[in-house]
Amino acid sequence: ASKPNLPLLKSTAVTLDQHSVDLLANISSVEGAREAKNLGAGGIGLFRTEFLYLNRPAPPSEAEQFEIYREVAMIFGKDAPIIIRTFDLGGDKQPDFYSFPQELNPLLGYRGIRVSLDQIALFKTQLRAILKASPYGQLKIMFPMIAVLAEWKAAMLILAEVKDELNTEGIDFNVNLEVGMMIEVTSAALNVEQFAVEADFFSIGTNDLIQYLLEVDRSNTSVGYLDNGYNPAVLQLIQDVIRTANKHQKWVSLCGNMAGDPTAASLFLGMGLQKLSMNANELSAVALRISQIKYTELQNYLTEILKMSEAREVISFLENNS
Ligand code: PEP
Ligand code: MG
Repeated sequence: ASKPNLPLLKSTAVTLDQHSVDLLANISSVEGAREAKNLGAGGIGLFRTEFLYLNRPAPPSEAEQFEIYREVAMIFGKDAPIIIRTFDLGGDKQPDFYSFPQELNPLLGYRGIRVSLDQIALFKTQLRAILKASPYGQLKIMFPMIAVLAEWKAAMLILAEVKDELNTEGIDFNVNLEVGMMIEVTSAALNVEQFAVEADFFSIGTNDLIQYLLEVDRSNTSVGYLDNGYNPAVLQLIQDVIRTANKHQKWVSLCGNMAGDPTAASLFLGMGLQKLSMNANELSAVALRISQIKYTELQNYLTEILKMSEAREVISFLENNS
């Protein structure tokens, strides 16, 4: 018998051969969470919390952040994952309340987890706020820009200290809260096996990963021809990350801009990832594309694509096969 025509749910996309992937949204505010919910997102795959720190004379307090994280959790309800990335300040995101060092290469400098491990009070305030909001939903913590295992361990030690402090104060939090990391620095992508023993999940940040893999500043248009995620080196690395993480029973999401490109999104699905996170207004096109293809076919495409040497070969192959 033929299957009934199910309504197209944007919170999960299903291929013609019944392989499914969760569709989540990237946000940077409570307002963004509301919009994402209205557009059908199944949760938040990336909350870029650094935006809460920009264009203001002082960082957001613990109470202010607690309210924000709780609000986002309540918008989505108990079953939806809400991945809160700890602030990824530095690089092109400079707050007013602290003067960052002048650097020749800010994108290779003081940013992300490197700042957090140096500004421990600022980091702890955020971790306290997330933990305090954790009973209100399925909050998860994610660290940005992890390059080496020592950074992961240092961040986890600080998180453990914050948990101890909350316990001493008798403050409730979800003791089973999952903690993961972005895969956006090449060394972490290549060493994902080391991290897979430690982290609960991964989210691939193609914006930075492409930048660091091809050595191309993501904001510099004069070398923009290189900034292309269809480069087979990028695709191969992403496939290796997904396979290695999955081998260790760790789920993988992808939250860079490529997740919102229906063709790229379906390729990643073919690599076996579990979640895709994108701008909420891209969800329906991605869901539609996924509903029109077969997982097994994507796997065959990947075998062909990963033998190619240039992004444009990959793109023309995909144009001819979709
Ligand atoms: C990324 O690097 O792909 C990512 C999602 O993080 P951001 O764009 O905030 O650097
Ligand atoms: Mg990034």
